[in-house]
Amino acid sequence: PISNKTLLSMQNIRESNARSYPRRLPIAIKKAEGVIVTDMDGKEYIDFLAGAGTLALGHNHAVVHEAIQEVLANSTPLHTLDFTTPVKEAFVDEVFAILPEAFARKAKIQFCGPTGGDAIEAALKLVKTATGNRTILSFQGGYHGSTHGTLSISGTTSPKKHIHALVPDTHFFPYPYEYRCPFGIGEKGHEFISTYLENTLDDPESGIVTPAGIVVEIVQGEGGSVPAPVEWLKQLRRITKERNIPLIIDEVQTGIGRTGKMFAFEHADIEPDVLVLSKAIGGSLPLSVVIYDKRLDQWEAGAHIGTFRGNQLAMATGRATLQFVKEHHLPEHAHKLGQYIQTQLKNLQQRVKSIGHVRGRGLMLGVEIVDKTKIPNSIGSYPADGELARAIQKECFDRGVILEVGGRHGAVIRFLPPLIVTKQQIDEVLFRFEDAIKAAEN
Ligand code: PMP
Repeated sequence: PISNKTLLSMQNIRESNARSYPRRLPIAIKKAEGVIVTDMDGKEYIDFLAGAGTLALGHNHAVVHEAIQEVLANSTPLHTLDFTTPVKEAFVDEVFAILPEAFARKAKIQFCGPTGGDAIEAALKLVKTATGNRTILSFQGGYHGSTHGTLSISGTTSPKKHIHALVPDTHFFPYPYEYRCPFGIGEKGHEFISTYLENTLDDPESGIVTPAGIVVEIVQGEGGSVPAPVEWLKQLRRITKERNIPLIIDEVQTGIGRTGKMFAFEHADIEPDVLVLSKAIGGSLPLSVVIYDKRLDQWEAGAHIGTFRGNQLAMATGRATLQFVKEHHLPEHAHKLGQYIQTQLKNLQQRVKSIGHVRGRGLMLGVEIVDKTKIPNSIGSYPADGELARAIQKECFDRGVILEVGGRHGAVIRFLPPLIVTKQQIDEVLFRFEDAIKAAEN
């Protein structure tokens, strides 16, 4: 039998320098089921990365398998460009059924290429065409993809370090990141951010009076599981509505129950003009869509093409996943367990030395690792400690727990378990996490 070590060394020789996850998590995966992945040597890991938040139902869920088998049994074409099929119509029905009713009534859907990034590209083109404007506003710490266009509007700076000549006409605004609020006033910082945005949009000298759109994550994912306050989101919606600026809500990571509601914007009781979905919507397989207010539907036929917009398997597994999430009330489950994890992590914060902040919504949580031997800034936040975060990640890995690090300093340990995770599995992870932090701190 081939060992972990053999496969990893083959990967190191033949795959590019740009590979990422396996550098920090050196695992060759033989099989995976639910929340557990097993490596080539038979060692089991609890997977709280789960396809970077993609696997709502965990690995290899029975309903996902059944959906694939049904497509195969019916000789549905696997590849259809954007021709329609009964599988596609059923998927669209299911998507519209989970949207808030008022939005569903006025919404149109565009199928995009297989990635979230491609759907973001489509959203940018849609609002530019509809408004005739060209400036895009987005937020510091945001992440929207890895293409030139999506990197351009991503506020996370490290992925674009060596990439020059990104798409111009993007402006970044501060995100209401409570622990490191750029306005230095903690919880109330978001009020200042709203005022700053509003004043800038109304200042003829700012050069961005009429943007084509504003792109936002309700909880910044790659930015370090940073939830925006509900009050700020309401203000953002008011400001954009009053000025007729399309609001693009990127729910690639937050969508489909992850944050404790089917869509994260529902926490703030707001509605997007453009909603971008990928990851969980494909039920383990690649799929992305843009769903938008039909008043914006002013682009021409072929305005966003792409060969792989007709992945029937992904539509079938996506539909099965959406149904399961809805019927089994997984958003509520995510909400309850998310609160439980946050409480436990906040208790843990008292018992260890290096946790600066615990935060999140539903099952999208972050633990910011800091250096408390240094002097905190004026709002009491300590310098981020990415090195220690990676050491903790490694200690977790050695103890059979897969957790990813992220955030602007690589110092945030992110919890993104499948939504079907149980309390027992969470307790096991928390137990090993505490042990791992203490080992890394010493
Ligand atoms: N938007 C958000 C919020 C994301 O988290 C991601 C992926 N992490 C993307 C867009 C890009 O998706 P993809 O990697 O499928 O292009």
